[in-house]
Amino acid sequence: MHEKPNAAAAVGDELLVIGAGAAGLFCAARAAEGGRKVRLVDHGREAGRKILISGGGRCNFTNSGARPECYLGEDPAFCTTALSAFGPGDFLDHMRRWNLGWKEKARGQLFCEQRARALRGALVADCRRSGVRLLLDAAIEGLQPQGQGFRFRLNGRAERARQVVVATGGLSFPKLGASDFAYRLARELGLRLVERRPALVPLCLTGPLQEFSSGLSGLSLPVAIRCGDTRFGEDLLFTHRGLSGPAVLQISSYWQPGREVRIDFLPGRRLEELLGTADGSRQLLSTRLAEYLPRRFCQAFADRFSGNPRVAECRGRVLERQQGWWQDWRLKPAADEGYRKAEVTRGGMATEELDPYTMECHKVPGLYFIGEAVDITGWLGGYNFQWAWASAFLAARALSL
Ligand SMILES: Cc1cc2nc3c(=O)[nH]c(=O)nc-3n(C[C@H](O)[C@H](O)[C@H](O)COP(=O)(O)OP(=O)(O)OC[C@H]3O[C@@H](n4cnc5c(N)ncnc54)[C@H](O)[C@@H]3O)c2cc1C
Repeated sequence: MHEKPNAAAAVGDELLVIGAGAAGLFCAARAAEGGRKVRLVDHGREAGRKILISGGGRCNFTNSGARPECYLGEDPAFCTTALSAFGPGDFLDHMRRWNLGWKEKARGQLFCEQRARALRGALVADCRRSGVRLLLDAAIEGLQPQGQGFRFRLNGRAERARQVVVATGGLSFPKLGASDFAYRLARELGLRLVERRPALVPLCLTGPLQEFSSGLSGLSLPVAIRCGDTRFGEDLLFTHRGLSGPAVLQISSYWQPGREVRIDFLPGRRLEELLGTADGSRQLLSTRLAEYLPRRFCQAFADRFSGNPRVAECRGRVLERQQGWWQDWRLKPAADEGYRKAEVTRGGMATEELDPYTMECHKVPGLYFIGEAVDITGWLGGYNFQWAWASAFLAARALSL
């Protein structure tokens, strides 16, 4: 008679999931439901801390339009399998099962109706219900493949596991427990890493640019922003240190130090059309543009950068120059605000090292990487959690009995 392996599994048959964030919690619960004996460990005192603060406390947990084009990495198409196997609709099935509601904000962004705490609670409760052993405040060291599994030290004690899922996330928000665990392990095992950089992060300005943006700190306006061939239409926010807001966070993922960012303050319009009806007007350009843009911004921008011709003068070269200022403002940010302020980490575990159907390492059978630790980074708007759920689902499905 066959005995259910779960029932009498020795510690060496366990599945160890490292990192009780979005990906780790979801993967552990699914694998335990699939009959595995699972231990989920985290070095923090609480599970899912980023879930709690995400989306302003309401967690933008997915985006109904999630598709590979909304992700960055050496090979964004890598996430096609995960998103096909487990799309936004599949996560909504779990939301219904947990009796959690949601609201759609702009562009398919789905937020929890209750506080994000309720979603974190549901993920933890799922783990408990399915028998996951959750160990917080735990130190994992010396993880190494050995024989048919892995050995490691957990709080100083030698232990074994049959397989290991690494779900320790990226480097952003170190105060919430981010660590380089996944990258260190990859290096020790000879796995290739893609260079890491802060992403979805505010950009810093210096000199007159910083003085300008600091003077407008708190002011937000819709813009089109570009870096190379990538363009986003979203809101830009001026801050004391430089630029932020969704437009800037989005473009920051494509920006590198030394590169130029281009901003159109009149997206979807043309300056000459806005001035067209005012032929012969003695009105100042900033006064005219204040009909379309915040007055304070128009005045400050004209004073510091564009100059302020009368509308009647805006023809030929003058018009061209003004178009350049208001519709193609080019600036070089000095830096980004770093991991302290970055919502995510770009780069990480090279996807060519992983099987896109299971997230298992080709070179180290039994070792899986999921979530933000992998070189797949989503746009702002729920795409990163969707990647966490989808990659966790693939690993759990492959690991279930
Ligand atoms: C302020 C903020 C707001 C965000 N808002 C959104 C949003 O609204 N929508 C969205 O899609 N994305 C959002 N994100 C991004 C999203 O939170 C992450 O992409 C997602 O949490 C990644 O999930 P993960 O499980 O891979 O990593 P994490 O959620 O970061 O979890 C990693 C876990 O591993 C643990 N860990 C790390 N090192 C070790 C170690 N050495 N030993 C043991 N445990 C370890 C950590 O304590 C943590 O619990 C936001 C991020 C931030 C910082």
